Amino acid sequence: MTTGKINVSVENIFPLIKKFLYSDHEIFLRELISNATDATLKLKHLVSIGEANVELGNPMIEIKIDKEGKKLHVIDQGIGMSEDEVKKYINEVAFSGAEEFLDKYKDAGKDAGIIGHFGLGFYSSFMVADRVDIFTKSHTDADAVHWSCDGSPEFSIEKSDRTERGTEIVLHIAEDSEEFLEEGRIRELLQKYNKFMPVPIKFGTRTETLPKPEDAKEEDPAPTQEVDDIINNPTPAWTKKPSDLTDDDYKAFYRELYPMQFEEPLFHIHLNVDYPFNLTGILYFPKLNQDLANQKDRIQLYQNQVFITDNVEGIVPEFLTMLRGVIDSPDIPLNVSRSYLQADGAVKKISSYITRKVGDKLNSLFKEDRENFEKKWDDIKVVIEYGMLSEEKFFEKADSFALYPTVDGTYYTFSELQEKVKDLQTDKDDKLVLLYASDKESQHSYIEAAKGRGYEVLMMDSPIVAHLMQKLETSKEKISFARVDADHLDKLIQKEETQISKLSEEEIETLKGQVEGVLGEKSSYMVQMEAMESSASPFMITEPEFMRRMKEMQQTGGG
Ligand code: ADP
Ligand code: MG
Repeated sequence: MTTGKINVSVENIFPLIKKFLYSDHEIFLRELISNATDATLKLKHLVSIGEANVELGNPMIEIKIDKEGKKLHVIDQGIGMSEDEVKKYINEVAFSGAEEFLDKYKDAGKDAGIIGHFGLGFYSSFMVADRVDIFTKSHTDADAVHWSCDGSPEFSIEKSDRTERGTEIVLHIAEDSEEFLEEGRIRELLQKYNKFMPVPIKFGTRTETLPKPEDAKEEDPAPTQEVDDIINNPTPAWTKKPSDLTDDDYKAFYRELYPMQFEEPLFHIHLNVDYPFNLTGILYFPKLNQDLANQKDRIQLYQNQVFITDNVEGIVPEFLTMLRGVIDSPDIPLNVSRSYLQADGAVKKISSYITRKVGDKLNSLFKEDRENFEKKWDDIKVVIEYGMLSEEKFFEKADSFALYPTVDGTYYTFSELQEKVKDLQTDKDDKLVLLYASDKESQHSYIEAAKGRGYEVLMMDSPIVAHLMQKLETSKEKISFARVDADHLDKLIQKEETQISKLSEEEIETLKGQVEGVLGEKSSYMVQMEAMESSASPFMITEPEFMRRMKEMQQTGGG
């Protein structure tokens, strides 16, 4: 047995690891399973290029709790390490073997999907363990090795009698971390971080019910057998080709991601790009409920099938954080601040790629089946309208599929709407005046009056509608929006002069004076006598569009 000191000024690094490396102690398991996965994928890769001569079998990773011994085991059947390799890869902290492997096998290594690149992952185990043993046997005929370290820079290394290929990491769980000896806690972590990792992960066994034999009697219980409990799905939908997946596959994957979601997603978008960055994933448009802010089923970020976070702020444009699903990209820098993320070139490209794909998908849904798109409009409009407000590129794209429904349920695109109203709804400056209602009940008589004149009345009731109209008014030429109860009617030019009121000038003045007296002097409301021929109301009370919109925008906050 030899002993030695771990390299690279470890005296300084260990306390750092313990305290600051990861504020989340639980990620040690993710790191160890990532290493086990890397070791397995490396071996597979070497076998595939003929550089390792082993019976690969169907390699698995196993997690075992030894509650009495207060130990947690992570076992793989991967590449293993020789004594020299342990010295090199484990003892030299902050020397990432994954990076060296990648360098050596360059692009081929990239395809193999190797995970590690921090060089400190293994040492995160000391956040929860006060001693760590490694038993490992290389896939070559080098002797098996046992390495042991109690968290101080001193370690021991000796021959081991291990005969199976691969590595077993044994964590002697520290007193303050005994939660990691609980089956429930470990299962929770495996579910969170490892649910879609590419190598099967076994955690205990489960009882499987078998079909009854043909000749079984009614009262005979179905036979059962104990099988390995594999906690992950090594080939999740996003790693497959879109052409190999059906609509039902996508729905099934949604349920796999969000087992507590009973509502089906409205549609999905499969992301798949490998240049100039790597990104795969599937996004879903969920049926949104009111409770957007508290939405906990969020987009999950993975790297090579390892869960990283469900906070994708800065990576996905804000308006798309209302979507659900998965994105997987090894090109997103981790452990950096959000502001750094937003400034990062690759991340910017990723964000605009996602925006474009979402726009393209919406466009094709609209083109391929407009009727169905119209049916979904109410469920998706918040996201689209928010996107139109916040991303100029998306605004331009959305112009072809954003819909403007009327109070009678006709859905126009913006250009269809312009075409429809251009003859009738212009003011004296030739501006198109687009009328809308925000509440059918309370604005009923105004709506009827406007319809009576042959005007189209849109139904615009989303919370950000005032901002959206402002945006359209500044982006489109010569249009303005006015709510049906605004002071627009006298500004619209009637094609044919119609007798508006049946009262005489004098009667109008008197009636107007009386109503205004009731409204009070400071009111921004106005009394209009004009819509009488087409409505049951003797007069209308209106409010200038700009006054009301200002109030509304103050309520919903800035653009
Ligand atoms: P990284 O994974 O970023 O390279 P780690 O600290 O997690 O850094 O691991 C350091 C190195 O130790 C790995 O690159 C690998 O060479 C080696 N190693 C760790 N765990 C295993 C394992 N289970 N099997 C084989 N080699 C391993
Ligand atoms: Mg690692």
